[in-house]
Formats: sequence, structure tokens, C-alpha cells
Amino acid sequence: MRYDVIVVGAGPAGTTAGRHCANKGLNTLIIEKEKLPRYKSCGGFVSTRAISLLDFKIKDKLIEKECYGIRLHYGEHEIEAKKPYRLGILTSRDKFDMYLTEKSIDAGVELKDGEKVKSLDMRKSHVIIKTDKNTYKTSAVIGADGVNSMVAGYVRPRYKPTELAISIEAEIPAKDEDIDDYIRNAVDMHFGISYMGYGWVFPKKEHFSVGVGGLLSEFKEPERIFTNFLKKLNFDTNVKFHTHLIPAGGYERETSSDRIILAGDAAGYVDSFFGEGIQYAINSGKIAANVIVNAHEKCDFSKKELTHYNQDCYAAFGENLRYALKFSLLAHRYPNIFIKLIATNKPIIDKLLDVPDYLSYKDFTKWILIRTPYYVVKNLFH
Ligand SMILES: Cc1cc2nc3c(=O)[nH]c(=O)nc-3n(C[C@H](O)[C@H](O)[C@H](O)COP(=O)(O)OP(=O)(O)OC[C@H]3O[C@@H](n4cnc5c(N)ncnc54)[C@H](O)[C@@H]3O)c2cc1C
Repeated sequence: MRYDVIVVGAGPAGTTAGRHCANKGLNTLIIEKEKLPRYKSCGGFVSTRAISLLDFKIKDKLIEKECYGIRLHYGEHEIEAKKPYRLGILTSRDKFDMYLTEKSIDAGVELKDGEKVKSLDMRKSHVIIKTDKNTYKTSAVIGADGVNSMVAGYVRPRYKPTELAISIEAEIPAKDEDIDDYIRNAVDMHFGISYMGYGWVFPKKEHFSVGVGGLLSEFKEPERIFTNFLKKLNFDTNVKFHTHLIPAGGYERETSSDRIILAGDAAGYVDSFFGEGIQYAINSGKIAANVIVNAHEKCDFSKKELTHYNQDCYAAFGENLRYALKFSLLAHRYPNIFIKLIATNKPIIDKLLDVPDYLSYKDFTKWILIRTPYYVVKNLFH
């Protein structure tokens, strides 16, 4: 049998792409290497903007905590800011991704889980996909197989260490009342731990997600830093932890070729400052599906036709990711100016909190740069 499209990976990018393709009548298969539901190392913060991109309601059961704000630490400085509206929810990715998978199956997607894609054989009129169990034929492929994407190998060179962040994360069991006492309806972030990264304590149901992340090429001894972070916060250090890569963000890279589109982490769509990726995975999955549907209508799966994907993603969020990288580089190169200003001035952290919601990084960067001299001088006299 020949599929109209095969999506590799059942994360937020793949399940969204699959659901939209099936909704538009394409004969769609998702192949996922893990048996579902699968564990995914993640803070589990899903922004309100990410949720707004879904065309269905998130089940209440998936919402382990709500997030209205942030407590940010830098050296001896600590600041807290909250919004009167919800910035996002905290969830567990095994359950959240399973729910997205179920939604795609409801839309008509066929799912093969526990099956790993091993190779793509690019033919003139189709693609042959070989897994560790089967062989499939398809007109097009959406590579939504995450940061270590094998599909991306058919589109662009592998990520360099300077394009990746590494993170170590553990789930630390705790009583719900202790979690709320630690931080209620907010997330806890510790800057100054690593270049292009931070340490976090995100509240979940009956556990904390605790982790540290930083640019792979610069983050030496992440395990030691993680252990010290746990000790500093009086958490048990004898915990099972997961190490995971995450694209360091930015926008400039190839994301399509003949018959292939990359979405989500496979395309590198992550906010360099906060590390938010779910929003971009969902958005790019949706855009990838639309472009594949159009390609089917035109019977044209050439790289030229699929380049619309890059243009559409740029229009939707590309500039934001470019400026997120610029801001992150600026803030982490000069933490004693920018991170310190955020950690010591309420109006700045209030403004930063508009970013996951509606403010673009371009506007935030302009806003802070104009005010930097004033706040630097103000800090000198406090
Ligand atoms: C520690 C950590 C914390 C994070 N915290 C947050 C957060 O709080 N909020 C946020 O928005 N983002 C966060 N992110 C980023 C976020 O997790 C990713 O951006 C997001 O998961 C990307 O979704 P995706 O669908 O592209 O890829 P993934 O969610 O990684 O899904 C890819 C899927 O492809 C499958 N796969 C891989 N290879 C193959 C193959 N060969 N064959 C078949 N299947 C395959 C994988 O098993 C996986 O299920 C975090 C990342 C890390 C590492």
C-alpha cells in the first residue's frame, strides 16, 4: 500500500502534522520508535499560546499545575512576577503526547508504535521507508523525529555542538502541599548556572521536574553542576536522571528537500532563551501538513514546492526565533548587565513574562535595550 504521507515521530510536531493531514483526507501513517505512552524528558510547560494552536480542548486531567508567573534567581538576587492570566500549564509529556496521539487517531491516522525508522530510500516518484519491522511506500515524509532526527540526515548536515543544548532532568517526588508551598502557580528558574541555559524547578502533580541545561559546546561537567544544584535546593541527590539534547534555537537551516519536510525539534524550532519547543513543534507540524496537502493537490513534491514550508514558518514564528537567539546570546554574554537587570527590576521581569504570551522577542529586545542605561545607573545607586 502507498501512503499519502508518513510522519516519523509521535511528539507534538508529528501528532499535530498527522492529525491535520488526516483531517484533510490524506492517507496518513505515523511511525513512532517507542511503545506509547513513552517517557519524554521535559519541563512540561505548555504555554497558553501553544494550547491556542490546538483545535481541541486540553483535558483537565492533563493539567497538573497552572502557571501564572515566574520566580527568577541570579546570584544572590531573587525576583517574582505573576500575571493575572494563565501563562501556561504544567503537564507530563507521556500523558500529554499520548493525548495528542489519540486525537490524531480519532482524525483517521494509522499508528505504528514500537517501530523504529531506519532508512529512507528516495525514488523519483515516491519514498521507501524501512523500519526495524517493515517497509512502507509513501509520496511524502514529515520528519518529526526530534532533536536526533534521522530524517534530517536526508535534508541537512547534523547539528553542530554549538547548535545544541544539553540538559539533565529528574522527577523528584513530593507531596502536593509541599509543592505548592515551594512555588504556587509559577515556575522557578535559576540563571547564571550555564551559558545559554538555566536551572529549573517546575511544579507537577506529586513531583517536581528539576533540571539544568546549557549550550553543549560550553557546558562542562553538567552532572556535577546538576548534583550541586540539587544540593543547593536541599533536594535528594540520589535520583534517577535523564540527559537529553535540545536544539539551541535560531532559524537559519534547511528544513525541506524533495518529498521531505522537517518539523519541531528536527527542524530546530526552539526558543533559545526559555527553551520552549512545544509551541513551535505544534505550529510547524500544522504548517507542514498544510504544505503537504497543497503538494498533493498540485502533484508536486519537489524541494521548490516544499520551500513554501520555510516561508510559512518564517511568517508564523521565524523572526521570533531569530530574535530569541539574539536576545539569548546578548543576555548570556553579558549576564551581569541583562540577567541582573531582569533579576532586580520588577518592570523588566513583568515585560519578559509577556514574551511566552504575546510580545515578540524583537519588541522585548528593543524595549530592554532602550531602558538598559537607565536601569544600569539606577542599580548603581541601590
Ligand atoms: C529537559 C528538557 C526540558 C524541556 N522543557 C520544555 C518545556 O517545559 N516546555 C516546552 O515547550 N519545551 C520544552 N522542551 C523542548 C520540548 O521538549 C521539545 O521542543 C518538543 O518535545 C519537540 O517536539 P517534537 O515533536 O519535535 O519532538 P519530540 O517530542 O522529541 O518527539 C519526537 C518523537 O520521535 C520519535 N523518534 C525519534 N527517532 C525515531 C525514529 N528513527 N523512528 C521513529 N520514531 C522516532 C521519538 O521517540 C519521539 O517520540 C524541553 C526539552 C528538554 C530536553
